[in-house]
Amino acid sequence: MSNAVKLITLDDVCKYFKVSGGTLKAVDHVSLDIYKGETLGLVGESGCGKSTLGRVAMGIHPATSGKLTYNGEELNLRKAETRFKYAKKAQIIFQDPYASLDPRMTVASIIAEGMEIHGMYDAKKRQERVYELLELVGLNREHANRFPHEFSGGQRQRIGIARALAIEPEFIVCDEPISALDVSIQSQIINLLHDLQEKLGLTFLFIAHDLNIVKYISDRIAVMYLGNVVELADSTELYKNTLHPYSKALLSAGPIPDPNAEAQKNRQILSGDVPSPINTPKGCNFAGRCPVACDKCRESKPALQEIVPGHFVACHLVEPQM
Ligand code: SF4
Repeated sequence: MSNAVKLITLDDVCKYFKVSGGTLKAVDHVSLDIYKGETLGLVGESGCGKSTLGRVAMGIHPATSGKLTYNGEELNLRKAETRFKYAKKAQIIFQDPYASLDPRMTVASIIAEGMEIHGMYDAKKRQERVYELLELVGLNREHANRFPHEFSGGQRQRIGIARALAIEPEFIVCDEPISALDVSIQSQIINLLHDLQEKLGLTFLFIAHDLNIVKYISDRIAVMYLGNVVELADSTELYKNTLHPYSKALLSAGPIPDPNAEAQKNRQILSGDVPSPINTPKGCNFAGRCPVACDKCRESKPALQEIVPGHFVACHLVEPQM
């Protein structure tokens, strides 16, 4: 991505929460660029901090420390005016299409709400935009005056996508947008997001817990474990040359459509529990579960370093090859 233009940069970002018993380090010193027009997949198990990182990137959660830069400008999200302006650029599609739509509002009011908040268009033009957006996501204008409970899960997710698009954002965080849907519907939503990205030039941060889900939609993939990015690479490179022991385990855990390949696959079952993000270990966060951990791993944290051009790994046992 050397010629690509950076849209968002997270620079040494931390997001901590005070909880009883200490400080929960949801995101711990993460640095990441997201390029214009790309889909960056963000993968990891539940509780690894990926949703929090997505919310930091779109400004819902101001970072505890570190910098968030958008289009070359550092954002001070403690200022309400900056938050309001950035909210027009960055939107989110939520995981649960059942819980994320207000059941008392019609589809038209759900989609038009953001346009009203941002003072976009008069009422007549907003209504036209609602019809356009419904058609853009594969629904139709007859759906505008209905309520969310009248729709299937896949249709509700389409409404959620239309809502996110209404204020013409440049960047969308897709927070596990297909996890709550039937498998038969998942590929339809993935294809829709892909088409919309091409048509509208959108930039996506696509969050998922399964590496196999992000494979087809992502240009690059970042793997997260306990608040840290542990591997980041071009999508093809990551699958061809998986280097971090956690990414390898995550990849081997997913299903393979070909039954023969499934039988031959060398499954790596992770032992041990994910350590608490409140009391993270002294050394590598993955040391307690890593099949190749050594003494050094328990003593010092590995830094994320470039191993081959564009491929970054945080592991003491993976040496740069450049
Ligand atoms: Fe495993 Fe050590 Fe690498 Fe961590 S640093 S992933 S414990 S080998």
